[in-house]
Amino acid sequence: MERYDAKKTIAIHELKQMSDKEKLDILEHNYWFFGDKEGIKESVQEGSYPKISEAMIEIIDKTPKPFLNDESETLLVDYQVGRLKHVTNLYLQIKLKDLNPDFKEEIFGEIEKAGLCPCCEYFSIDYGEDGFYDICPVCFWENGGDGPNHMTLAEAKMNFQRFGAIDERSLKYVDIEGVKKYLKK
Ligand SMILES: [Zn+2]
Repeated sequence: MERYDAKKTIAIHELKQMSDKEKLDILEHNYWFFGDKEGIKESVQEGSYPKISEAMIEIIDKTPKPFLNDESETLLVDYQVGRLKHVTNLYLQIKLKDLNPDFKEEIFGEIEKAGLCPCCEYFSIDYGEDGFYDICPVCFWENGGDGPNHMTLAEAKMNFQRFGAIDERSLKYVDIEGVKKYLKK
């Protein structure tokens, strides 16, 4: 099975487990710009939102506001698929086997080029400039130096070794499956 299809199968399954409230929360937190279509189109043209694709603008255009219909379902699948960026093919395979014990296919396709988190050293963030200020799902380090993290990288690394996040406060935000998802340096 091709990597994208594997991600989509998992995404659709995850959405089936979600309540409408959870879905609306995702739409409202991640697609807040629904209310300002013209503004967002201009901003995308100016390059302010490099991660919003043409396809996504098309969906925004067709959807009056974040409420649950077929279009927003497409958006939610897109969002859940996006959360599986950079994960290994083996992780996708294990996940699909969890959903269906009879699943025996191999997953093929190249992992999206990922950046290395300087703290936990997993390939868990976007590559290069796209990864500036990304927050690592494995350890919660923000890829912007000591400043935004309010600690030194050395402290964060030590904490990650000790209990699995850059500090105790961030523990509840790290992805519990993070260490299984990404390649390690
Ligand atoms: Zn990390």
